[in-house]
Amino acid sequence: MADIYAGVDLGGTSVKCALGTADGEMVAETKIATTAHEGAETVLERIGEAIEDLVNETGSRPVSLGMGVPGLVDIQEGVTRFLPNLAGHWKDVPAGPILSDALGCPVQLLNDVRTATLGELTFGHGRGVNTMAFFALGTGVGGGIVVDGKLRLGPLGAAGELGHMTILPDGPPCGCGSRGCVETLVGAPAIVAEGIRLMRIGLAPRLRELVEGDITRITPREMAEAAHSGDEDVKEAIVRAAGYLGLAVANTITVLHPELVVLGGGVANMGDLIFDRVREVVQEDVRMFPADEVRIESSLLEEKAGVMGALALASRGIDAAGKSD
Ligand SMILES: [Zn+2]
Repeated sequence: MADIYAGVDLGGTSVKCALGTADGEMVAETKIATTAHEGAETVLERIGEAIEDLVNETGSRPVSLGMGVPGLVDIQEGVTRFLPNLAGHWKDVPAGPILSDALGCPVQLLNDVRTATLGELTFGHGRGVNTMAFFALGTGVGGGIVVDGKLRLGPLGAAGELGHMTILPDGPPCGCGSRGCVETLVGAPAIVAEGIRLMRIGLAPRLRELVEGDITRITPREMAEAAHSGDEDVKEAIVRAAGYLGLAVANTITVLHPELVVLGGGVANMGDLIFDRVREVVQEDVRMFPADEVRIESSLLEEKAGVMGALALASRGIDAAGKSD
């Protein structure tokens, strides 16, 4: 029987856990609430229990475990440094050693979007691809870069933060401390904020209907639906945001000349409104070589990219996945 590995995708609201093979075949999976306010120790204890439940269910014990975490992590030591979206920020939590003791197997940690990039590279659109970039477009905008088949991590594991490229030097302040980053212009909060503004001034009648006048129900999904059913100003707002994203994608293509750029997350799920404009900007702005052979695709694994990437991390190890020098 093939060796079994464990993958964990630690998110702000939920944790996905899975057992699977090195080929990406999922044997068992489960999802638990993060409830980060209980503290890191308790969250890690519950992750250990969730994996034990999967072990009991399948009769297979994992050879090793990989976990994607939402923030900065010391890859060598398995210690989280700063997870901005979790209560207490998990400063200097030895999450790797704690899980390793609980489960009796080696544990490898990696930033969650770099982990999702590894998932897409190993089991998604990136199979057989040499060089690719991944944009994770949600509340935040994360990124990952693969060069010559390996994740580019850099000395701190923080290379590939595509969401924090400056697009507008005098643009809105960003959580990272800079201004006008991709994230401030294309992250879901930026797009939703424009939807709220348009609805309040009467320029988004379809959107108003869709959310029954309740601005707290506006998400990128409702915005895309409103745009498709006739809200021209909402459509324009989405296409403008996609234009900024297009600049970021074009710059990335100029630097890397990758075979593939993958756009994932809730904002990418707005579909053609985003992709058509991104492809257009890439055609306009990448002039140093023909960019028409660079594929720009939506994520094949979607919300499972993280947990699948964690399985790949567990089965291949960080040295095969990326260089940390
Ligand atoms: Zn930023």
